[in-house]
Order: sequence, then C-alpha cells, then structure tokens
Amino acid sequence: MSAELGVEHLRKVFATGKPAVDDVSFTVQAGEIVVLLGPSGCGKTTTLRCVAGLEHPTAGAIRIGGEVISAPEQGVLVPPRRRNIGMVFQSYAVWPHMTVRQNVAYPLRHRGMTRAEMDRKVAEALELVDLSSYADRAVVSLSGGQMQRVALARSMVYQPRLLLLDEPLSNLDAQLRLRLRDDLRRIIKRAGLTALYVTHDQTEAVVLGDRIGVMQNGKLLQMAPPDEVYNRPADLFVASFTGASNFVAGRVVERQGEFGTIEAGGGQRLTAWLPAALAPGAAVTIAIRPENIRFGHGDGANRFAAEVLAQRYQGVQTIYELGLFGARIEALEVGTTMRHEVGSRVDVVLPPDSCWAYEAGTAADLA
Ligand code: ATP
Repeated sequence: MSAELGVEHLRKVFATGKPAVDDVSFTVQAGEIVVLLGPSGCGKTTTLRCVAGLEHPTAGAIRIGGEVISAPEQGVLVPPRRRNIGMVFQSYAVWPHMTVRQNVAYPLRHRGMTRAEMDRKVAEALELVDLSSYADRAVVSLSGGQMQRVALARSMVYQPRLLLLDEPLSNLDAQLRLRLRDDLRRIIKRAGLTALYVTHDQTEAVVLGDRIGVMQNGKLLQMAPPDEVYNRPADLFVASFTGASNFVAGRVVERQGEFGTIEAGGGQRLTAWLPAALAPGAAVTIAIRPENIRFGHGDGANRFAAEVLAQRYQGVQTIYELGLFGARIEALEVGTTMRHEVGSRVDVVLPPDSCWAYEAGTAADLA
C-alpha cells in the first residue's frame, strides 16, 4: 500500500561542514507525486538518499505511513532493505544477462510467494509499463527507454510504500525522454504510488508533479502546485529558475492590498504583486516573464509605450528587446510572423498579477 511520506527539519552535513540539506520539511500525501527541483548541488539528491536510507541524516525525522524510519536524535535508523521503498536511478540498473521477465521478477524472490502469484505480479507490472509483449526478450536487446521502463516495473512489482526516482530520464536521448516523461506520470498514477522525484529540468517537474519543491543551497524555497510556482514564485531565485528573465530595479511607493506601486527606472511607475514583508521605501527587484508581456492596447494598469530595440525570430515565436524603465526588457510574441519592426514604438501591457516584486536582489539570487 502506498503511504504518506513526512520529512521534518531534515539536515545533512557532510565532512566539508556546509549543510547539503538545511532544515528541509515537507509531506508527500499517499498517492501524490512530489518533484524536488533545483540546480546541480542544491541538495535534492541528498534529500532523496536520506529517505532511501543510503545517506544517514545529521538531524530531523523521516516518516513513512506514520512509522519513523529515521530520527538520529532518538537513535532511530531503519535500514534501507526494511523501508519497503522502490527506487529508479539515472542508470538503467537492469541485470544484462536476464530477460525482461526475470529482471522484473528479481525483487520477488525470497518473499514467500507461490510461482503463480509471482507470475501474476510480474505480468501486472509489465502491463503497467506497456512491455507485456517483451517479457521473454533479453533485456540488452531493448532501447534505453524500454530498459528504464523495465527498471520502473521492477521497482513497482513488490508494491512499495513509496517510489523514489532520481533523474530517471537523463540518460535517454531527447525524443525518448519526452515520450517517457509523459508516460511516467500516467504509470505512477495508475499504480497509485506515492512518489518523490528529483530533477533539474523545469518542464519535467511541471509535467510530472502534483506539487513541486524548489531547492537552492540545501534549502526548500517553495513547495506548491506547478501553476502556483510559475504564477506566484516565492522569491527571486524561484522566479528566475523557472524562467523569468527580466529584472527591473525599483522602489516601493505605496501598497494597495496584495499589490504595490513601484517607481522603476526612468521615473515610470508600475503596479506589481508585493509580498507582505515589503513596505513603502523598500528597494525591490521586479521579475517579469517575457511571455507574460502582451502587445497592443489593453485596459487597466501597467500600459506602456516602448521602443523595439532588437528582434530574434524563432519560427514559432519572436523575442523582442524593448526599451522600457530605462532598461532592455525581453517580450515574447507567439506566431510565425514578425509584427514589429526595429525602431518602431509599440504599446505593451504588463499585467500586474504577472509582475512580482521581491526584496532587491543581487546576481547571486538569480539562477
Ligand atoms: P546533482 O543534480 O548534481 O546531483 P543535487 O541537487 O542532487 O545535485 P546533492 O547531490 O544533494 O545535490 O549535493 C548537495 C551538496 O552536497 C553538494 O554541494 C555536494 O557537493 C555535497 N555532497 C553530496 N554528496 C556528498 C558526499 N558524499 N560527501 C561530501 N559532499 C557531498
């Protein structure tokens, strides 16, 4: 039965002294897929390895289905083989000398099952990953994507309480990666498994996760459903890591509810979402996604006229560099036609809900 995972104040410090995981807390509900997302070295793999029992946490508690499996302060440490967790890694980790069926049946040995029971479980697992017709093939004759599906079937065949996946798609070529990415969520959901998935790929996180946890420097910065992470990033790093590429310096003039008036470069004022901690007078950095800038008139706040400074045609879309707020701002327009010439003036709207002000940051806050 899949179970809830609870991670509380998890900390892991290696001999280097700098915490790899720094006071991380989150829950994965039974049947939920949570993705830990962040750049290389942010601590996501170490978090996963602590849950698996491959790394011993320095502090904090880990629970599966209410059972404490790790709590160094209480001297609790359940060994990996008794945690009943399935794992899938980057490398395919299949037995090359065995058939597909033998690979998937492998974890069922020594579990006191009848032959018929084993056959049924293997058949179900192969069905789940769409490999039923490959059961008797030598595993080495399969493609990388198929081998990874064998690894997945093998990790699910004994119905673990929790499935852990660490960049399982990163060794596949681009096309296979996209195909298996779309399949993975369906397979995990069909099996009803609780899953914790680690990746540095934003799109993978969005496609797969019910919720995404963004990490940086060992800290969990935000844990929320994908659309919330994309539409209300908790801080400058999350905004930048998930693709906001325009950063405008400004100062808070006044607050109106959740929003504030900001004076930006060139004396222009705009309305932006303003976190509660920021008061009038505060220096801020406003993050804006190129794809959230709209061309044309519009009504409401944040209408500006801008000069087109440059354009980059990309076939299905064009990126325009606009002179605005005394800076160069990128705006993306979808469509196969370039509609604005360099040197012309265009009207643009920056919807206030898509302009986010954060405490003034430095380059180190950006991804
Ligand atoms: P990647 O995607 O590159 O694996 P990550 O986000 O998963 O990155 P971790 O592998 O968890 O990051 O590493 C977090 C930090 O802990 C890094 O600074 C890393 O160098 C350090 N670290 C990881 N494992 C060890 C170890 N066994 N000994 C010492 N330091 C380690």
